Amino acid sequence: MPSTVSFDLDGTLSTPSFAEAVWDEALPGALARRRDMPLDEARRYCREAYAAEGDGSIRWYQLPYWLMTLGLEDLDPGDLVRTGAANLRLFDDALPTLARLAHAGMRLVIFSNAARIFLDAEVALSGLDRYVDTCISVTDDWGMVKADPRSFERLLDRHGPVIHVGDHLRYDYHVPRAVGIEAYHIWRGSGERTAQSITSLAPIARIASR
Ligand SMILES: [Mg+2]
Repeated sequence: MPSTVSFDLDGTLSTPSFAEAVWDEALPGALARRRDMPLDEARRYCREAYAAEGDGSIRWYQLPYWLMTLGLEDLDPGDLVRTGAANLRLFDDALPTLARLAHAGMRLVIFSNAARIFLDAEVALSGLDRYVDTCISVTDDWGMVKADPRSFERLLDRHGPVIHVGDHLRYDYHVPRAVGIEAYHIWRGSGERTAQSITSLAPIARIASR
């Protein structure tokens, strides 16, 4: 039985509000000011640029790439982190579930495509760092994305058998399942789901007592 549980972060343990504040508010806001264009138009421009890159691409997660692409190289990444941090909120079941798993002796890993600077801020400020043993920014630490099955193979190599939980149907469920990981898709109220999707972390907390 696996003794390690790996969690995606954004949309799984934390609500999307951190990422939205950065990618859908702060960056379009800066672009609107820089190009003297309406905020709505800047937001549409950014969304189209993100969509054109696609979340299977490593660049989709790399802040320096977007600052360069949007002509905002002089923005301070620290300011963007602080903007996200001000909007950071965990789902209600996140800390209780991690506490329960940790007290049952499970090792806990955060396995996220998010950039290291965002990951570190989110984990420290939310209090997740009390329970998490290892935090992996798949993009910054390994130069990979979770769309690539080799990222989950490496997770297995480093941490032994794991259970993985996340809100992206493909990258947190189908991809890890394909390499033999006991993976669960958590549906947090929007996007694709399957009949097997869980809607809270309660089934994961129960793993601690099985
Ligand atoms: Mg996610």
